[in-house]
Amino acid sequence: MTVQHHFDAVIVGAGGAGLMAALNASKHARIAVISKLYPSRSHTGAAQGGIAAALGNVEEDHWEWHAFDTVKGGDYLCDQDAVEVMCHDAVEAVIELEHAGLPFNRTSAGKIDQRRFGGHTRPAPTDDNPDRRVAVQRACYAADRTGHMILQTLYQQCIKHGVQFFDEFQVVDIIVKNGACLGVVAYEIDSGEIHVFRSRATMFATGGFGRMWKVTSNAYSLTGDGNAIALRRGVPMEDMEFYQFHPTGIYKLGVLLTEGVRGEGGILLNKDGERFMPRYAPSIKDLASRDVVSRAIFQEVKAGRGIDGKDYVYLDIRPEVVNRYFDEDGAKNVDGTPRRITAEDVRKKLPDISDFVETYLGIDPVTAPMPIQPTAHYAMGGIPTDIDGRVVIDEKSTVMPGLYAAGECACVSVHGANRLGTNSLVDLVVFGRRAGKAMIADLDGLPTDDLPADAAEYTAEALARLLADGGTERVAILRRELQQLMTDDVGVYRNAGDLTKAVAGIRALQERYKHVAIDDHGKRFNQDLLEAWELGCLLDLAEVTAVAALERQESRGGHAREDFPDRDDGAWLKHSLGYQTAQGVEMRYKPVTITKYPPKARVY
Ligand SMILES: Cc1cc2nc3c(=O)[nH]c(=O)nc-3n(C[C@H](O)[C@H](O)[C@H](O)COP(=O)(O)OP(=O)(O)OC[C@H]3O[C@@H](n4cnc5c(N)ncnc54)[C@H](O)[C@@H]3O)c2cc1C
Repeated sequence: MTVQHHFDAVIVGAGGAGLMAALNASKHARIAVISKLYPSRSHTGAAQGGIAAALGNVEEDHWEWHAFDTVKGGDYLCDQDAVEVMCHDAVEAVIELEHAGLPFNRTSAGKIDQRRFGGHTRPAPTDDNPDRRVAVQRACYAADRTGHMILQTLYQQCIKHGVQFFDEFQVVDIIVKNGACLGVVAYEIDSGEIHVFRSRATMFATGGFGRMWKVTSNAYSLTGDGNAIALRRGVPMEDMEFYQFHPTGIYKLGVLLTEGVRGEGGILLNKDGERFMPRYAPSIKDLASRDVVSRAIFQEVKAGRGIDGKDYVYLDIRPEVVNRYFDEDGAKNVDGTPRRITAEDVRKKLPDISDFVETYLGIDPVTAPMPIQPTAHYAMGGIPTDIDGRVVIDEKSTVMPGLYAAGECACVSVHGANRLGTNSLVDLVVFGRRAGKAMIADLDGLPTDDLPADAAEYTAEALARLLADGGTERVAILRRELQQLMTDDVGVYRNAGDLTKAVAGIRALQERYKHVAIDDHGKRFNQDLLEAWELGCLLDLAEVTAVAALERQESRGGHAREDFPDRDDGAWLKHSLGYQTAQGVEMRYKPVTITKYPPKARVY
């Protein structure tokens, strides 16, 4: 049985991006938010360290400095018009969150407190180095639970403004007619019923797809559903070769230890007890951008300097160690006094981190260093959009009427080839808000067609195929093989041989996926079925990622090719667009928008 619903706008995803859009659209139209998770369980709630905005509450700062850092951090692949919008609007958006009730940490003067984060800098010229920059305090934070606070605040505001929620509904398809999106098809997890939503505007805010890799900071639910659905309906995926590996995941587990640890003074040490980052980033050392730090860790391990000869190093926030390095660096507070950290600071400003390492490793960060390794973390690429969240389907910027996207599933592109820490939360609130407003502004001009009679047919068939008897392949095994393959061959460092192997391996897994068998044939809470469907999403996105990475013959940001170690602006200063076709992935390219910041060599 198919149940039908009608809304002005449907938003898929109840993380920061979806809720920000819903809140801004709800004042003017009937909005539904559909989420496979209970909203406050969205991954935004796991974000720890902070949200960047050039408030200048602790030291001088300007949104243009934030924009410069973002463009440089993205290795000049960002669309600079979008970056300018983000960094400019960030200030207002953070204040809007404050007024909505978000409990930020405060300075002694009662303003929103700010801390240092990787790649966020201010000019600090010296006679022999006029371009010198040092870390700036730009990340607004609520202890190390910033995302949790954003999510709770936005959810409460959405309830207050009458947004209608469909919790534990899994969207499996969009309805496209004459090139326009007319709504979505969803599976009600509690009942196994199929629901069709007709909506003038439809928005994806479905988050990332880090479950493609073995060691990842991403929640189990991050399987790229929105991206895969769009891809199957003709939308290309932009810049998929750029995936971020965060330097500090707990060894083997991948659980994230926020960059805020290094923002508070934490340092990285190899097996000789050497602080190795100054060799890779002489100016900002441990606070270089993530791609640089992840590669440095990889190089240390390769040179035999991992702890105990293994593939990890230490992240150290023990006050006696950190204070020693503060003295060595001559680190000062804004008022000129020597910088210091105490055990109480660690416990107060990083309570969740302290909890995680206690729970998972049985250690106290105040008295012991933490074993870490890079962990798959964030998708710079995704569904291409304009600066108002409208989904763009080709290199001529053609828009698919009725379809919008924002947040991690989207690519505006503000992160280019490498995202700076704290810039995702800004992206969510700034572009979630813009997409919410754009949907309302566009509503009257969007198609009024009735739904096609067979709107739910594709979904019914896809699920029936997975439920059919006689399959021979297991979801858990295929997923494990995919994660191993992506980690081995599409990881921090890449080369043509490994990537060619990866593409062939993924295609072989896609073939085997056609013969998958599941045990649960029930209607209620059939996780077996949904995990099988999600694996299909991961496989399709892995294929685009590997093909895009193989095609891009240069190193830029998060994409490091051993066989093409340099950035090549002449040939590759362009965005990739990967299309799904019957013959495999087809790549096309489109130019990067440059406004004020011409490409330069990137040194930290
Ligand atoms: C551990 C961790 C720490 C982080 N820390 C920071 C930080 O300090 N600062 C920062 O800027 N960034 C941080 N990030 C990144 C940032 O948190 C994420 O990029 C961001 O929260 C993504 O938000 P989103 O709204 O796009 O999606 P999410 O918050 O991931 O929400 C996705 C939503 O989509 C729904 N959904 C997905 N698929 C379907 C489907 N098929 N049907 C229905 N609903 C669906 C889910 O139910 C969920 O509601 C961190 C990320 C992680 C993993």
